[in-house]
Amino acid sequence: KRKWRRVVGVLRELEESCETTVGRLKQVVDAMAVEMHAGLASEGGSKLKMLLTFVDKLPNGSEKGTYYALDLGGTNFRVLRIQLGGTGSSILGYDVERQPIPQELMTSTSEDLFNFVALSLKDFVEREGDGTEISLDRRRDLGFTFSFPVKQISVSSGILIKWTKGFAIRDMVGKEVAGCLEQALTRQGLNMRVTALVNDTVGTLALGHYHDADTVAAVIIGTGTNACYLERTDAIIKCQGLLTTTGAMVINMEWGNFWSSHLPRTTYDIDLDAGSPNPNDQVFCCSFCFLIDITPWKSHIIKSLLQGFEKMISGMYLGDIVRRVILRMSQETDIFGPVSCRLLVPFILRTPLMAAMHEDDSPELKEVGRILGEILGIPDVPLKVRKLIVKVCDVVTRRAARLAAAGIAGILKKIGRDGSGGLTGGRRSDVKMKRTAVAIEGGLYTSYTMFREYLNEALTEILGEEVAQHVVLKVTEDGSGIGAALLAASHSSQS
Ligand code: ADP
Repeated sequence: KRKWRRVVGVLRELEESCETTVGRLKQVVDAMAVEMHAGLASEGGSKLKMLLTFVDKLPNGSEKGTYYALDLGGTNFRVLRIQLGGTGSSILGYDVERQPIPQELMTSTSEDLFNFVALSLKDFVEREGDGTEISLDRRRDLGFTFSFPVKQISVSSGILIKWTKGFAIRDMVGKEVAGCLEQALTRQGLNMRVTALVNDTVGTLALGHYHDADTVAAVIIGTGTNACYLERTDAIIKCQGLLTTTGAMVINMEWGNFWSSHLPRTTYDIDLDAGSPNPNDQVFCCSFCFLIDITPWKSHIIKSLLQGFEKMISGMYLGDIVRRVILRMSQETDIFGPVSCRLLVPFILRTPLMAAMHEDDSPELKEVGRILGEILGIPDVPLKVRKLIVKVCDVVTRRAARLAAAGIAGILKKIGRDGSGGLTGGRRSDVKMKRTAVAIEGGLYTSYTMFREYLNEALTEILGEEVAQHVVLKVTEDGSGIGAALLAASHSSQS
């Protein structure tokens, strides 16, 4: 009995500290809009970097011709080609090829890496269309999605600030990325030019806008999370005199870094933030610990030192928050028997597994039992306790989804599409709401039903039914690749 009460106590405490009432979410919305403003006012003015992308024209469906894109940003890289019809947002053809990046190239020289990329692209180009050899004389336009921190110089060029995700090619840092690629393309005899160098959210926005001209922002919620949106150039105070033909520019928010005191924070988040592998020092555990290799997770632990908002929302972390709660329950009572050493391994409970427990609808909660046993080394958990674990998953995911919704509403508020008349205020009844679309991508939103439902529900709660009717979240697929090719098209001198 006492044990049970203590475990329920841990859950109640979690629920309280994860509370996301509409009132609190609205505070987060306001904080997001204010931070966006601060990040646009001066370099370093906010944790939100609000990076200029120099993308001023989004594809609108009138693009025509064949365009290529390269998507480099993880263990796989992709080469793709699209054929555009020129009217009515029609993508006539689409080919994609995925390849893993050989491990040794990730730490080699920039020449080696780009030679490999260029060679793959050459093979792909040569097999254009029906497989017949085609002339390589005509210059092709290429979109390049390069998902690493880049200081953008123009829409088609930028300097690599640093590598992440296991890449470490020292001679590349500080160099202009598109130029390095183009040199490699020339070495391969490819007549291609990078006309758009972008990150993945910008690609998503481009794809969203191609199909729906009311698209003003894009959000990715996958392993990590980020957003970008279309801003008026005169609101980009830190870059005065910025002129674009459209009077607007896409801003890459890097919203994973967002921070506000209104974010509902738990001790588990604080531990995760501190990069501490475990909430409490746990000296005693079984003697098989050496069997579990935590090396692959070390980079995630290091990464976890960096971000704020992202750690409450994205797929990289949600499972680990749940693991920390279960560990606390196990430490505070012996409800699961002696503390399982697997429970001490950071990131051992990956988010898709956590989602599978959350969405287990079998009467006996079989999947919950299986995952607790097989992954966390806690066998034979009674049904009553399994239900409690499902509740833990629910609390963590609900908070994540609702905060993501507040982030989206923050963007809408900043650009005056939340029905309130923007930061300066204004009466709701005075404002005629324009239809507004937000492109959204990422495994958490597309594959985790409960997450998606909580996010949608919270957005309606925040905006109110009436305004929410005018806001659509539209799932795009492969925006990081297709979007880059579309941007190559819209920024091409040929289209
Ligand atoms: P990435 O962000 O890694 O480029 P995705 O957008 O496909 O790729 O997102 C993958 C992430 O989404 C995974 O790391 C995982 O955290 C999360 N995810 C994928 N499928 C599910 C699922 N069914 N339930 C919960 N989370 C999922």
